[in-house]
Amino acid sequence: MFIDALGWEIVNKHGFCDQELPCRYPVRMQFGYSSTALPTILSGRKPTAHKHLSFYYYNPEKSPFKIFRCLMLQYLPGRIFNRWRVRHILSRIIKKLYGFTGYFELYSMPFDRLPFFDYCEKKDIFAAGGLAPLENLCDLLKEAGIPYLISDWRQPEEYNIRQMRAAVNDGSIEFGFLYTAGLDGFLHDRISDSGAVARKLAGYEQEVKNLLRAAENNYDDFTFALISDHGMTPLRGTCDLKTRIDRLGLKFGKDYAAVYDSTMARFWFFSPSARLRIMEVLAGEKNARLLTPAQKQEYGIDFPDNMFGEEILLCDPGIQIVPGDMSLRALAGMHGYSPGDKDSRASYLSNREPVRPPEWVGDYFALMRERISGN
Ligand SMILES: [Zn+2]
Repeated sequence: MFIDALGWEIVNKHGFCDQELPCRYPVRMQFGYSSTALPTILSGRKPTAHKHLSFYYYNPEKSPFKIFRCLMLQYLPGRIFNRWRVRHILSRIIKKLYGFTGYFELYSMPFDRLPFFDYCEKKDIFAAGGLAPLENLCDLLKEAGIPYLISDWRQPEEYNIRQMRAAVNDGSIEFGFLYTAGLDGFLHDRISDSGAVARKLAGYEQEVKNLLRAAENNYDDFTFALISDHGMTPLRGTCDLKTRIDRLGLKFGKDYAAVYDSTMARFWFFSPSARLRIMEVLAGEKNARLLTPAQKQEYGIDFPDNMFGEEILLCDPGIQIVPGDMSLRALAGMHGYSPGDKDSRASYLSNREPVRPPEWVGDYFALMRERISGN
């Protein structure tokens, strides 16, 4: 069972499932967001191998958003087109138009900047061949030829939980991957409301108990593992970097390109002078620092072609880039900070000791593979 954003901090604070799942380990998150954590979990490989980090990367030649140049959506009233709901509907139209099967959202990306970027999750990463040429969880299961169920991430989590419980109740599967993402959205808004978090977690705890009971009644032997991708860090402050870079008067797409994720800003430079002027602004940023080559290597994001940016500025824990390309406003909680920070840590909770305790979220893959092959 995957619970997005079930961090080690809240697990311990609330004693989440401590009776039912006594084998418990903090796990180092993959640097980045769920967009890179999920491919890492589903393949056991680093971003340099599966090539998923943040959603957007500079690639004007292959950009599926070239159409935005003609549509001139940037001239439409921002008060309408910056609304989340309107952008969500627009995202669905684009997704259908291009036949994208992956998770696709425009977020708050400015329409006039979109034609400079490509999007890394065009394919459904959970489906067979979704991370080709790498092998993913679905490929493993198909190869093993055992009956399995991987939840459809497009469905609401209530549906996914019900569907998994039904499959366990009639003993029709040998492996299940239950995907839930409701906690992530909840914690983005309410991480600081301890009472509300406790109530939300109690709901998940009940679902875990139901699943365990169903497994006990229908299987001679089973392993239940609850896994997560990262934690959630309460808001501590904001950083208006995008506004300050815009004010330099450089031309986007000609002098430089940038993506402002919630906790990091990624830059591509097209002239030495643009680089110099931007680097000056970045150096003056008090609540963020540039990733060093050693850190990029450690996080598995040392792309030889700088696919996701030549320079990456990472905010200190709790600081959000506002306004940014992912959101125009600050949220109560965010993730995507240093994997070493305590609030970043993910969790592995199980009814049974793992063969090797997972240290990094990518280690779940080897554990799943062992269960699938029956070793
Ligand atoms: Zn999130």
